[in-house]
This record gives sequence, structure tokens and C-alpha cells, in this order.
Amino acid sequence: MEGTQKKSSQGWLDKICRFSLDANVEQDAHRQKVIITILMLTGSIVITGLSLWDMFEGAGPYWGNLITLAVGLLAITSYIVMLITSKISLSMTLILMVFLHFFWLITSGVELTGLFWCLVMLPLFFYLLGHKQGGVLVIVVFIVSAIVLLQPDFLLLPTHYSHHTSYRFLLAYLVLFWVSFLVERVRFQMRYSLEEARANLNVQARTDELTGLANRRGFKQYLGNAEKRGEKGTGSFSVIVGDLDHFKLINDAYSHDVGDCVLREIARILKTSVRAEDLIVRWGGEEFLLLLVDTDLVGAHVLAEKVRQKIASTRIVTEEGKLAVTMSFGVDTQPAGGDLYTTLGAADKAMYEAKRRGRNCVVTAEENNNTDCTQTELNYQAAVE
Ligand code: GH3
Ligand code: MG
Ligand code: MG
Repeated sequence: MEGTQKKSSQGWLDKICRFSLDANVEQDAHRQKVIITILMLTGSIVITGLSLWDMFEGAGPYWGNLITLAVGLLAITSYIVMLITSKISLSMTLILMVFLHFFWLITSGVELTGLFWCLVMLPLFFYLLGHKQGGVLVIVVFIVSAIVLLQPDFLLLPTHYSHHTSYRFLLAYLVLFWVSFLVERVRFQMRYSLEEARANLNVQARTDELTGLANRRGFKQYLGNAEKRGEKGTGSFSVIVGDLDHFKLINDAYSHDVGDCVLREIARILKTSVRAEDLIVRWGGEEFLLLLVDTDLVGAHVLAEKVRQKIASTRIVTEEGKLAVTMSFGVDTQPAGGDLYTTLGAADKAMYEAKRRGRNCVVTAEENNNTDCTQTELNYQAAVE
């Protein structure tokens, strides 16, 4: 029973204070507003309770307690409405905070305790607005407060603070300003560095290190993003699967480094052959996938053939000399609303059919074309110029 209670209280706190790097800036700002609203609600309940207590006890000026009570009740109602409707007004909270600060400063509260509450407000300004805007607001509040405290006659204040109290309050306010500014700045920088690190890790995780192309994770993320944007099934997606022919021979005949150099150059050729909105994925060791947006089967076939010719006619410069390589392609298109993974499987099968037909050619999934492909030159040594 005890364990369950502990768990549920952790869950409640977790929900309010959870820091998620996945949250975007707006979600994070909203979370911050919810926390400050809960703080302000708590504060308003305490203040309302205190003013009620003081009214019964006859402590402090009656009209002051009455105003505090009215403002407190108004604040409690507003904050509860804001939390229930999830429509939190930052300006309303700020106006109320500034109002309360000067109300306490001018009336001084019970036996000058209003000044305590003014100090409580300061870190909340920073928390709500951040170190820059919060800092500016607190400086403005400080300057006006200094005028109020040091020129009481001029403003006809109901309360007269002694010089000692005024100067010590202003000094305490400055110290708290400096501490809150530093804490908020550190918090901001930590958040910024964490976000930067997360963004870098995210890029690394979805990118193939050797070629700089997307890897399978990048492909999944791309699909997820396209789905979020509502693009799935709207236009025609075409898929080209390309696999280097007899690539193992390059590694065997030369070295793994030369093989890597060939892979990088193939990636470069692929990148320069498609549009910015298309995605190229290093699908496996020497297998690549081209995802073409708004492209039908004919268009995808034309592109695959263009890329095939480009690769076959390129001589790749390596430390072992210039190499000629070829690639086999399978093409398929996804019908609107269809499943992309089915299309991918069909394109992959077509690629294997291209291998079977002799390599260095393009085969579409639906094609009844029985022309054999050009036989790839197996002797890479002969391709070295
Ligand atoms: P096929 O024409 O049938 O596709 O023959 P293949 O030799 O290209 O196919 P196979 O699957 O037998 O060999 C693929 C080779 O790709 C085997 C592996 O050593 C090599 N490979 C995979 N990843 C890398 C890599 O990152 N760098 C290098 N250099 N080679 C790689
Ligand atoms: Mg291969
Ligand atoms: Mg392969």
C-alpha cells in the first residue's frame, strides 16, 4: 500500500516536472507555464488564507486585507480555469505577479512581511521569462521599487520604511537577482547544450558514416516524418534498389579501403542524380535505395537507367588506379495508399532479377521485358586504366 502511494506521488510529480529532450520548444514552454501556474495557484491560496486570517485577527489594515482577499480569490479562480482548459496566459500571470509585488511593497503587509513576498516573486520572473527577458523585467521592477522605497513622500505611500529596511531590502533584491540570473543562465545553457548534443546524436544515428547517406534508421525517420506531415499515400512514391555488381571482387582484388572509396564515389553519383526531396539510403553493404517522391514507374525507370549508365561510364579514381564498376537496379512504384514495404520487397526482387539476367541493367517489378542485360566485366584488373 505504502509502495503504491509512493509510486503514485512520484507519477504526479514526474508528470509536472518531467524534462524531455524530445519535447519541442513550445511543449517545453507550456510545461514551464503549467509549473508556474501551479506555483502561483499555491501562492494565491496561501495569500488568500493569510488575508482571511489577518481579517479575523484584526492584523494589518482592513482595506489592505480585503484587496488581498479579492485579488487572491480572483487569482485562484483564474489559475484553476487556466489549468483545466490548458489555456495558460503568460501575460495575465505576469501582470498579476507585478501587481502583487507592488501591492506588497506599497502596503508593506503585516509588520513589513510584504517585503518577503516581493523577494519570492523575483525567481519566478526569471523562471517564467528566462534569463534575458526575466532580467530586464526584474531590473525595471527593481528601479521602480527603489523609487517607491526611497521617495515615499513623493508617492504619498501609506507605509514609511526606515532607511535601514529600504536599503537592506534593495540589497537583498540585488543579491537574489544575481543568483537567480546565474541559475537561470546555467539552466538555459544546459538545456541548449543538451539539445545540441541530442541533435548531433540524432544526425549521427540516422546517417551512414562512410557515405554520408541516410541509413535504415534515417529511412524510418523520413517515413515517420512524411506520415506526420500527412504525405503518406498522397502522391506516387517510387523505389529504386541498386546493388553493385561483383563488389566482393573489388575488396578481394584490391583492399577494403579501395572498396570504401568506390562506395563513397557511388554515393556521390547517386546524390547528384536525384532531387533534393528524394531520399537515398545506404540499405546494406553495397546496396542502395532511392526513394523518389511524386514519381511514377516510367519516371523511376528512366532515372534508374540514367544512373546505371552514369555509373558504368565513370572511372572511379582510387589509390590502385581508375576502376570501372556497374550496378544492377530493381524498380517499383507504390500505388496511392499502398504499403511502401511491399513496394520495397518488389523492387528488391526486381533487382535480383536484374542480377539473374546478367547484371548492369534495370528491371521493373511489373516488366515483361525479357531482354538480357549486358554481362558485367568480371575482371576488374582489366578495368584499371
Ligand atoms: P553481386 O553482383 O551478386 O551483388 O555480388 P557481390 O560481390 O557484390 O555481392 P556479395 O553480397 O557477395 O558481396 C558484397 C560485398 O560487399 C561483401 C562485403 O565484403 C562488401 N562490403 C559490405 N560492406 C562494405 C563496406 O562498408 N566496405 C567495403 N569495402 N566492402 C563492403
Ligand atoms: Mg553486390
Ligand atoms: Mg548486396
